[in-house]
Amino acid sequence: MQVNWPVSDFPRLRDSLHANTGTINCELEGIPEQLGRRALRLRLSGTLQLTCQRCLGELAQAVRVDEVLQLAETQAEIDAELVNTEAPERILAGREMQVHELVEDELVLALPIAPRHERCAGKPSGAAATKQSPFAGLKDLMHGRRH
Ligand SMILES: [Zn+2]
Repeated sequence: MQVNWPVSDFPRLRDSLHANTGTINCELEGIPEQLGRRALRLRLSGTLQLTCQRCLGELAQAVRVDEVLQLAETQAEIDAELVNTEAPERILAGREMQVHELVEDELVLALPIAPRHERCAGKPSGAAATKQSPFAGLKDLMHGRRH
């Protein structure tokens, strides 16, 4: 299965984005068996338009995710194995909503905490500076972002 998801379909990314544009290419591939269970390989690629924390300009950040996820048939099966933190992440089979949520999770995890240009193009323009509220950093703190 291969889907191109618009970045605007992921509301939890919105706060981190400079622009809500682009698409995430999502590839789901069944793996016949892993540790006796069905598994999926999830690959994501795309570019997110983040905000440079130094000049507040737009910063194109390439995102690459490549994960193997085991499929569980029931929620009970997942709950029973929650204690085993070494096990690969499990998802319920055949639920598109859950795949969407999972993709969103992976994207949130792939975001850098403080994205910065290697070399900022110039001084912040008036337009870029007004886009970002002076309290944006404070908001991040209050949301407890620390990864
Ligand atoms: Zn910059």
